Amino acid sequence: MIERTHRIRDLPERALVLGCVLAMSAIIALVTFMLVREHSSATHAAIRASSNVVQLIANEVQRNIDLYDASLQGLIETSQNPDFASIPTRLQHTLLFGKATGAPLRGDLLWINAQGNIVADSQADPPRKANLAGWPEFRAHREHADSGLIVSRPFQDQIGSLGWCISLSRRIASSSGQFLGVASGALRLDYFNTLFKSLNIGSDSSVSLISDEGFMLAREPLSIGDAAAGADYRHRGNFLAIMAAGTSGSFVAVSGSDKKERLYTFARVGQLPMIVVVAVSTEVVYGAWRRTALLVCAATGGLCLGILWLGALLRRELKKRQRAERKLATLAATDSLTGLPNRRQLDMTLHREWLRAQRTHKPLSVLMIDVDDFKAFNERHGHQGGDDALRAVANTLRNCTHRPADLAARYGGEEFLVILAETNPDGARNIAETIRLAVAQQIVPGSPQLSVTVSIGVAPTTLTGPDSMEGLLAEADAALYRAKHNGRNQVACGRSPALELSPS
Ligand code: GH3
Ligand code: MG
Ligand code: MG
Repeated sequence: MIERTHRIRDLPERALVLGCVLAMSAIIALVTFMLVREHSSATHAAIRASSNVVQLIANEVQRNIDLYDASLQGLIETSQNPDFASIPTRLQHTLLFGKATGAPLRGDLLWINAQGNIVADSQADPPRKANLAGWPEFRAHREHADSGLIVSRPFQDQIGSLGWCISLSRRIASSSGQFLGVASGALRLDYFNTLFKSLNIGSDSSVSLISDEGFMLAREPLSIGDAAAGADYRHRGNFLAIMAAGTSGSFVAVSGSDKKERLYTFARVGQLPMIVVVAVSTEVVYGAWRRTALLVCAATGGLCLGILWLGALLRRELKKRQRAERKLATLAATDSLTGLPNRRQLDMTLHREWLRAQRTHKPLSVLMIDVDDFKAFNERHGHQGGDDALRAVANTLRNCTHRPADLAARYGGEEFLVILAETNPDGARNIAETIRLAVAQQIVPGSPQLSVTVSIGVAPTTLTGPDSMEGLLAEADAALYRAKHNGRNQVACGRSPALELSPS
């Protein structure tokens, strides 16, 4: 019962806490949803922009290599022409490299014979002297008739001064398929760096062209500590991730060289063994989003703190009000003179205990207590003395009723009623006797020489009656009357006159 009362009393407070929690959760959920959506928009926009750059570069690289390949094929075609040998040597050079001069060449072109010696050289006539039979690409062409276009690893030009290059080479064969040599061209990697420089991709970001074997071909910009062309990236985590991801894609990872987080977007250059990688700093990608997120989070935090503060304020006010209401309720249920529960509280409790006793078939007893000759006491000691005596009796009643369900209340005037739940006639009579003795022995505070006595009527519920609450009270009243009649300062039992006690 008490627990249920507490639950009902705490309901507004719980509703308030729940409301605050729900409001804060809703705000946080909404803000989180918006931030996640904005983050994903920023990612998509950056991927789209990076993909465009990657595609642009891949197309440009492809176009250059196609042109270079066309020059190689032109060289092969010309060298295979049956009339070629009959043309004067000076014209041969122009014919061989004529197409090459028309193409935007970024290196040199060589015609190498089957022994590996340079037969014709776009850079020099007569050609520079070198034997390239040991080149891996030369061996590959010699051994495989279907070698096609071979793109070499990056290397530093040994026979000229082109710097870092890659070579593109094709096999020269007779109509019967016999190996006649190799047409080879060196492409300066610096050309790509110049191309990349023309792009503005933001700070802390880079564009790289890397071979699918894991060697750096070109990279822009080159910050301190970065490896230039030819650097080996084969075992770098990001390179392995690119190789595992397929022909194109994007992912966020930490750079192996400067440990900064970047968004990597990459794509293969057509069928060529090269990959274009654009790495954009996440600071650039998410910078604006992070600033917005910081602001929104701060505002949301402030809002939540505000809700918490308001909630705490309301809770305090609610508690204050509840306390005031409780105090009022207690006051409304308390007798102002004695501090005991008043008649209203008494009626409610008696009604409740009566119903409980009916339901549980457990005994219920009431004690009707009346101060003896109180009129005379009042006349002798004045109303103030009478009030003191009533307060002293009330105190004694409080001290003599120990169980939580027991209730001692002022019935009216100098009469009191004690409700003893689950107490049989014997128990009730004992308590009545204890009360009678205690009152007789009590000292009225402020009037030590004064004392009063009480007469007590006991009425227990029994199997044979009474059958109503009013009946029970009437029985207690009748017992009290008997006690008065028999000489006062004594206990009388409603159901059994035999149980009545004599004054001690
Ligand atoms: P009995 O032994 O038969 O009960 O005699 P009694 O004089 O106690 O009974 P009676 O009903 O004749 O008198 C009750 C008196 O109690 C009347 C009234 O002056 C006094 N009284 C009732 N309420 C109060 C109170 O709140 N304060 C004071 N001082 N006296 C009160
Ligand atoms: Mg009376
Ligand atoms: Mg009296």
